Formats: sequence, structure tokens, C-alpha cells
Amino acid sequence: MSNFLPNELIDRLRKEQDFDHEAFVDTHEKGDRITSIRLNPRKHALLDIALLDPVPWCSKAYYLGERPVFTLDPLYHAGCYYVQEASSMFLGHIIRTLGLENAAIRALDLCAAPGGKSTLINAYLGDKSLLVSNEVIKTRVGILEDNMNRWGMHNVVVTNNDPSSFSRLPGYFDLMVVDAPCSGSGMFRKDPDAIDEWSLANVKLCSDRQKRILAESISTLVTGGYLIYSTCSYSTEENEDILDWIAHEYGFSSVELPLDDSWGIQPTQSSEMSAHGYRFYPHQLQGEGFFVGVMKKTEAQETFSRKKAKPEKSAVPKQALADWLLPNAALYAFMHGDDVHIFPKRYEEDLKWLQRVLYIRNAGTNIGKWIGRELLPSHELALSVFVKSDLKSQEVPLSVAQEFLRKDNLDRDIFVDVGNGWCLVRYYGVNLGWVKVLANRVNNYYPKESRIVHL
Ligand code: SAM
Repeated sequence: MSNFLPNELIDRLRKEQDFDHEAFVDTHEKGDRITSIRLNPRKHALLDIALLDPVPWCSKAYYLGERPVFTLDPLYHAGCYYVQEASSMFLGHIIRTLGLENAAIRALDLCAAPGGKSTLINAYLGDKSLLVSNEVIKTRVGILEDNMNRWGMHNVVVTNNDPSSFSRLPGYFDLMVVDAPCSGSGMFRKDPDAIDEWSLANVKLCSDRQKRILAESISTLVTGGYLIYSTCSYSTEENEDILDWIAHEYGFSSVELPLDDSWGIQPTQSSEMSAHGYRFYPHQLQGEGFFVGVMKKTEAQETFSRKKAKPEKSAVPKQALADWLLPNAALYAFMHGDDVHIFPKRYEEDLKWLQRVLYIRNAGTNIGKWIGRELLPSHELALSVFVKSDLKSQEVPLSVAQEFLRKDNLDRDIFVDVGNGWCLVRYYGVNLGWVKVLANRVNNYYPKESRIVHL
């Protein structure tokens, strides 16, 4: 038995076929830290980080030899990559297997903060889809919003709703990801402090909560749509039993995924309905504990009535947008108060439907404030993949990039060739944010709330 892993957990895992509990315990006792990142496919940057092997089940994802101090790297703040645990990246393989890569679908990430899965889903689905990233806990929505803004895409709506709110949009989404809050045993190697909070009673509590989350929201999935359900728990009650329950209660069929034997992922099946699940054990692969299953809705689901709303004329002059954004006929702009947002044209109507039933924290990219017939550009615009590439800009070395991220005063001489006005600060060719160059000083517009204090 392990000195620090809960005996009840180990006892249960030992009952699994071929489970090498000694190797499992050993991995936890060694406590190796594995670091992996996933690159933003829309922000090409030369990273100053040594990438090792690729993560085999996800594109543009790599293990790192050592864990750098990410806060010191301006490209991290610019959204060039996301630091994500490797097992979770299996969602990439799922989306590809389901044939949804670059598809035009409506996707919901129901438990989305801090945004690891949402940035992955967005990268795999590409421009033509719409992603609603939802987080119920108010204090966690800010970090989700920040991470999605850094990612730079316009086709994301960040919401702050209880799962039950989505029942007001029956049959709306084609894909629903529920990365459920769980008892967290899969993270014990990374976070040994969490071990003290683990108990069978908590597993039961989590399992009941997972059912409640699904029961209250599952009607939002269209017939034929896919549910990806995942946890970072090893407990059957939170994993295979939930797949059984979904199949049984809601008329879903299970989707089997192709696996490469070399990946070390353990396929399992639920006891009642033989639903396929996939277990990730840290002693068998390079990643933390994780479970995932994919279910397809087969029962008829009524859908909400999609009343056509009159399209509104944009209050933002086209020229103003042309001054700041790359030409893109697939975008449309709308005003929210003084704020100008860009959003995919094909989902203009959808946004009205979403607004009626959800609390929207952010829709698309807020590109700035329209004040006195000109645009005051926002930080999100600087990080957007649609910001014009030939705007005034200044490439800076690491030391100046870090001063900028601390919101320090920058030396006016750095911008001597730029001329007065708005200027993008760039590092390795990637935008970090705005400064305004004046005759005798430079105003640093890096957002106060994102300022890097321990740099
Ligand atoms: N998907 C995220 C990612 O990849 O970055 C991680 C999600 S984490 C495993 C589970 C999330 O569920 C947390 O953000 C948590 O705040 C949220 N949550 C907690 N209780 C919830 C509830 N009752 N209903 C819905 N979500 C809940």
C-alpha cells in the first residue's frame, strides 16, 4: 500500500484487470512533473522554449524538457500557446475522429474555466464554427475570458450560466463538452495536497453533481449531436457509470474511438450498456489521470423555434473597421454601448437567440470603444488574429517587452522611428498590446488588471 494515496482508491483500482498498482503507486511517489504546451495555430511565433516530443494524440502539442517560468515569456501573454496537461489534449483526437475538424458547427463547452479545452476546441473547429464557453462560477469567468481573448478568435461567446439555463435552447448545439467538476484523483501526482480532500463520500457527491449538470443541460444537444464527457477522476461512479446512466436515461449510443497501442491509453467499457470509455494512467503514458467517453444522441430532441430577427444596420462606419482590421467579408460588427465587437456574420442571428436566454460576458472580439467618431483600440484588438498587419508597430527586445507587460513607463527613444499615435508593441513579430506615442512620452495601454507584477 502507498503511504500517501488513499487505500480505498488503490483497493478499487487493484480490482481492474491487468492494473499494475505498484507502477501506479511508484509514479506518484516519484512525483515527476510533466509539462506540455499546445501551440495556437493562428499565431505563428518562434518560441524560445525547447520543445521535446510531440503529444501523439493532438496536433501542435509538445512535451517540454523543463518547466520555464511562463509569466516571464511575452509570447505566453500574447496567446501563442496554452500550457495544458497532455492527457486532456486527447480531445483533439476525438474531434478529428468525429470528422468535426474545420466543420461549421455550434459547440458548447459547459464547464470551461480556465479555458484549456475551449482553446483546443476552438483551434480544431476553426473559423466556421461557433463556440459557447460557459463557466458557472462567477469568480472563474474572468480567467476564461482572458484566455479566450489571448487566443485571438472572434467566434467565441463567453457565458456565465448555470447548466440549467441551456435547457432554454433545446436541440441547439451539435457538440457539447462536459469536462465535469470531479473528485480529482487523476491530479494527485501534480497536486498531492488534493489527496486530503478525497473520500468515497466526496466521490458520491461528485457523481450526483455530474448527473445533475447533465440532466439539466443535455436537452441542448441536437439529435445526432455528440457529447464528450470527461473527468480527471479514476472512480467508476464518476466515469463509466455516468456513461451508462446517459445511455440509459437519455437514449445515447456510445462511440468507439480508434487508438494507437503505443499511446498507452486504457480502453474500458461500462458494466451495464458497454459504453466505451478511455482511461489515462500516469504510469502508462506521459500525462496525468483522465477519463473520457463520447456519446451520440439518438433519441428525437425537440428544438426551439428560431424566429428570424430583423438584421440591424451596423452603427460603425465600414471605413473605421477597414482602418484597423484585415479585410474579411465573413465578419460583422455590432455596438454594445460604446464598445465595438466583431463576430462571425453567419452567426449574427444566433447571437440574438443566445442573448435572450443566457448571461453573456463577452461575444466575439471587443475591438475598442467608438468615441467621437474614432476607435479607441482595445487590448483584445491587439491580440486578435484579425488586426491589420501593417499598422504602426515597434519590435522590442525581451527586456522592453517585460517592461511593457509590467505596465512600466517606456523610453520614448525606443519609438523614435514610429511617429506619434497608436503603435503595436511586438515581440518576435507577435503583438503584445498598444502604446500611444506622444511628442515627449509614451503611454502604455497594457491593461492594469493583466499587469504582470512578479516579473
Ligand atoms: N474544462 C476546463 C479546462 O479544460 O480548462 C476545466 C474545467 S474543471 C475540470 C470543471 C469546471 O466546472 C470548473 O471550472 C468549475 O468551476 C465548474 N463547476 C463547478 N461546479 C459546477 C456546477 N455545479 N455546474 C457546472 N460547472 C461547475
